[in-house]
Amino acid sequence: MSPNIDEKVEPIFKEVLDRNPGEIEFHQAVREVLESLGPVLVKHPEFADHKIIERICEPERQIIFRVPWVDDNGIVQINRGFRVEFNSALGPYKGGMRFHPSVYLGIVKFLGFEQIFKNALTGLPIGGGKGGSDFDPKGKSESEVMRFCQSFMTELYRHIGEHTDVPAGDIGVGGREIGYLFGQYKRITNRWEAGVLTGKGLDWGGSLVRTEATGYGAAFFVDEMLKVRKDSFDGKTCIVSGSGNVSIYTMEKITQLGGKTVACSDSNGYIYDEKGIDLDLVKQIKEIERRRISVYTDTHKHAKYIAKGNIWEIPCQVAMPSATQNEINGKDAALLVKNGCIAIGEGANMPTTPEGVKVFLEAGIAYGPGKAANAGGVATSALEMQQNASRDSWTFEYTEDRLRQIMQNIHKNCYETADEYGTPGNYVNGANIAGFIKVAKAMVAFGVI
Ligand code: GLU
Repeated sequence: MSPNIDEKVEPIFKEVLDRNPGEIEFHQAVREVLESLGPVLVKHPEFADHKIIERICEPERQIIFRVPWVDDNGIVQINRGFRVEFNSALGPYKGGMRFHPSVYLGIVKFLGFEQIFKNALTGLPIGGGKGGSDFDPKGKSESEVMRFCQSFMTELYRHIGEHTDVPAGDIGVGGREIGYLFGQYKRITNRWEAGVLTGKGLDWGGSLVRTEATGYGAAFFVDEMLKVRKDSFDGKTCIVSGSGNVSIYTMEKITQLGGKTVACSDSNGYIYDEKGIDLDLVKQIKEIERRRISVYTDTHKHAKYIAKGNIWEIPCQVAMPSATQNEINGKDAALLVKNGCIAIGEGANMPTTPEGVKVFLEAGIAYGPGKAANAGGVATSALEMQQNASRDSWTFEYTEDRLRQIMQNIHKNCYETADEYGTPGNYVNGANIAGFIKVAKAMVAFGVI
């Protein structure tokens, strides 16, 4: 149980723990939101009367299915597929799919739960959902990935649609996988329905900036937090964990905004390059060759590769965790603060443990939680849906401008909401409360459904 949960909310959290045993990441995500909601029930007693918190914690629908496929050796493999359609108060369920061996219902539910509030914060008409599989794309051949995606979609297609549920990418699901999934959906349904998936290729309904959006958006969000403190990225030393899609485009935007990223990582270790990470090389290694980050030092002898190292040991002013959940613990957070870090922007979902979050908030540094800071990805997915609906495609400049405005609005909304609820500068409360209220109002309007 949590000492920080208001006594009116506490029994609801207990019920969540009892009804969802073993789903520790889901418990963590729910606890973090519920800790912010006590004062909201004081201002909005109607939310308690309508049991909005209880209802929001229970997914509208959860789908679990078998995904059988045949590997290159002719052996039958079986994975498990998930789609949790969490909340459709504001629009069709929207959220990515994660292919990673760690995926189980508790991970999909934590991601789906966070997605509800993140998507509400974008101000665009999208509900929250998430999906995925325990399939591990690492080391699989191109044709194995294709066969897996086709089998996955052979079940998923009956649950999704442009007005129902619109999946996209997440860890292990990028443009290649979306292509195979879209192809199979089109084949089974006999419909060229662009709006059913986002993150599509640019030649077949995708949006410019979607690839860059999560990383660019996270950097824009940090830029806004720094502006409030009369500061900027200019001349700042930054650490960006991960080296996947979010990490790469976070580093790109940091450079454009005047900062310097000196370290990035993958699950085996990290690279430290004091001259600044060579982004073209990282793109070549990760996006084209699909290799491990350790090969960076093959051509860049001056850089260091630290196997199994802790990237948060390196002193920096801005840290942007962009790998995965719970990658910064209490000790890491304390080390970052001690080494002079003044801003954290979470590109990943829930990358900081509750102990770590406490350290950042108590230190009073600018801490942008994932559901606000990384909302640029899903926001640009919603812009892709807009373009698909009007059979239009926008320029890079126009789309990036829309993304920048959305991130500025999210920042303003979180900042003002934190102030209104008596916790100035606390973006965790700001994001949780602003996101929750928007969804709660819609749910009240719809009656008991
Ligand atoms: N997986 C991303 C997220 O965590 C993007 C989801 C989407 O574009 O629908 O928000």
